[in-house]
Amino acid sequence: MPFQTLRTWFERKPSVAPPPKDRSQLRVGIARVLNVWSTHQFWVAFLKELGISSENIVFSSDTSEEQGREFGKGRGTVDCCYPVKCISGHYGELVFGQKKKINILLSPMIHSLPSILHGHVVDTVTCTRVMAGPENIKAGFLKERDVFAENDIVYASPFVSLGDRHMVTEQLFTSLKDVFDLDLEETARAVQAGFQALDSFTTKARQRSRDILAWCAQNGKPCILVLARPYHMDPGIGHEIEGELQAHGYPILWLQYLPGDDDLVNWLFEEDVKTGRIKSPFDISDVWTSSYSSNTNEIMWGAKFATRCPWITCVIRLSSYECGMDQPTYTPSQKIVEATGTLYFKFGDLDSTKPGGGIKIRVETIVHYLSKYSEEIIQRKLGYLSPDCPLAVARRSDAAVST
Ligand code: SF4
Repeated sequence: MPFQTLRTWFERKPSVAPPPKDRSQLRVGIARVLNVWSTHQFWVAFLKELGISSENIVFSSDTSEEQGREFGKGRGTVDCCYPVKCISGHYGELVFGQKKKINILLSPMIHSLPSILHGHVVDTVTCTRVMAGPENIKAGFLKERDVFAENDIVYASPFVSLGDRHMVTEQLFTSLKDVFDLDLEETARAVQAGFQALDSFTTKARQRSRDILAWCAQNGKPCILVLARPYHMDPGIGHEIEGELQAHGYPILWLQYLPGDDDLVNWLFEEDVKTGRIKSPFDISDVWTSSYSSNTNEIMWGAKFATRCPWITCVIRLSSYECGMDQPTYTPSQKIVEATGTLYFKFGDLDSTKPGGGIKIRVETIVHYLSKYSEEIIQRKLGYLSPDCPLAVARRSDAAVST
């Protein structure tokens, strides 16, 4: 018997008649949630290529308790995962909280993600709660009456596989053609512009991380790696724990932007590749065989990178309340990181409330261990690697790096 709900996900369901063709007047609201945190460059460039002006692309604010109270109240879902639950506050803010009304609320259902591990893992799909989150939350705005239609807003939620680029033009054209009055050629151009912007940003961010590691290598200083999902960069989800640590003078790296340059990863994983334990520096099959989930795969690879990289002397693991995807990864990621004596601290079950005092005390503990053991950890991990460190070669932008 066919499952009817699935079929409807792929259909266009504008709440009101499509907007006029002149796109320069269109205002598009995007909820700043979930994997929009790691793909927003794509969406901005995509819309700009279609003729939407920058000032008419509106993101909701960072997540906050106030946002949820003011705009999401009474529209909650049964989902216990906080990063999904909080989306109702973002939708509400875009619908009710704009001085200048939006015409379209764009909230993509992202099915797969671009990843540095693409081709080395089974797949790079998203958590199912992430993918279906927009549909889940939308229900809260339709249950009594169509709030989008009442506010003259077209709700658009394209299903898109950003990890499988060849599918994206067709997917976005099919789901957005009536929303933006698109033709296939301009959709293809907009998709190309989107990926160019996303790739360029990611390359720059990875280079910046490499510069930080090079600075650490040349000055014998430690840094911290954050192992978390992209939306933990949202101050309302990750509670800026990494900011507290950075204030103590430790540079912070995010796993999403670790450098993947051949010279560096070949140096870090040389022994594992030589002994045949892994096929390439991006292979995680030695620690994670069911490697289909993009963010989970990257968390496992980040743990491997951290345990090898001498100047990452500490890993901070962030995870949200009731995260089903993270639960099986806690023990393996901790064991991998600690295998070389790298410090590991976990902040689990993060929810809407900021555990202010608790974070401060734990940050002081972490800083104490970092200052006491970092030098020893760096030397020990250097001993496992060949002396030909590619970071020892000074690079032009190193001078700009500061803690
Ligand atoms: S990965 Fe975890 S925190 Fe993120 S949406 Fe899925 S269940 Fe929620």
